Amino acid sequence: MHLARFARRRYTPGWTPLEPMPHLSRALGGPELWIKRDDLLGLASGGNKTRKLEFLVAEALAQGADTLVTVGAVQSNHCRLTLAAARREGLQCQLVLEERVPGSYREDASGNNFLFRLLGAERIEVVPDGTDLTAAMHGLADDLKAQGRTAYVIPGGGSSPLGALGYVACAEELLAQSFDMGLTIDHLVIASGSGGTHAGLVAGFHGNAAGIPITGVSVRAASKPQEERLFTLTQQTAELAGVPTPVPRDALHVIDDQVGGGYSVPTDAMVEAVQLFARHEGILLDPVYTGKAAAGLIALARAGHFGEDERVVFLHTGGSPALYAYQDVLLAPTGA
Ligand SMILES: *Cc1c(COP(=O)(O)O)cnc(C)c1O
Repeated sequence: MHLARFARRRYTPGWTPLEPMPHLSRALGGPELWIKRDDLLGLASGGNKTRKLEFLVAEALAQGADTLVTVGAVQSNHCRLTLAAARREGLQCQLVLEERVPGSYREDASGNNFLFRLLGAERIEVVPDGTDLTAAMHGLADDLKAQGRTAYVIPGGGSSPLGALGYVACAEELLAQSFDMGLTIDHLVIASGSGGTHAGLVAGFHGNAAGIPITGVSVRAASKPQEERLFTLTQQTAELAGVPTPVPRDALHVIDDQVGGGYSVPTDAMVEAVQLFARHEGILLDPVYTGKAAAGLIALARAGHFGEDERVVFLHTGGSPALYAYQDVLLAPTGA
């Protein structure tokens, strides 16, 4: 796709690494597992929101914004990275935090919450689950306007079509990298949350006729509604990127068996996955997204879903700062 047509800020030099995971592959008895290290993207502690923010912040600057306003959960990686991007650009940043689990916000909590304070969020508004988040963000933007300032409002997870272009770009990066390394890819497994990552990759693979199936592991929604939402976002993203539409409905595949008690609620399989990646490969996952996505990958591998010699890439979307808010859970003994 001709993505250079879009204004973009640059937060990561070059490509993120695509690395083999030989020890984990051996421990599971196949398939051949690889990992795309988007946890090593730029901005404070990296992660997938960095790719989306390259396009979103470029638009904010073009519109003359002085403040980024966005929304996320109480340990939101997206809020941390939006705040870091704001600092990089000399902008202010205000956050709406949605308390998806009642009583889960603590002003002195560790992890990303600590980083919100260290990076100096100008204003943090905590709202209960079920709040109209768009309205809450526009409330902050209106307050800023009344002060003669200009806000740029970024939707949750940066998952607008413009933000999702970051993962159209990642799809192309992955294909170029696989060609460069002489490495065919049989399958891609990712975490599926607000959906910009998933939609962008599906649009990007479709536009390049890649023929690589993607499995999204839901961290919150049931499969069907998640696939429906993704289908819409994927068409919008494809249209924006200049990818022929429609992208087929069956390109969107979501499994929801790792959600457990709900968004951000720990599961035994997540704890095991975080421990396995740490102890076999020295790679830090996170408890909310990549821990559950990796648990989905491990369950599929154990169930014989992949051929023993197939090459399966796991997209590491970041999030390790949240580990420090879950220490007790993550050191609990498991069968691993
Ligand atoms: C936001 C996030 C995701 C999910 O990405 P979406 O584009 O929202 O689906 C996955 N992993 C981490 C670490 C995240 O912060």
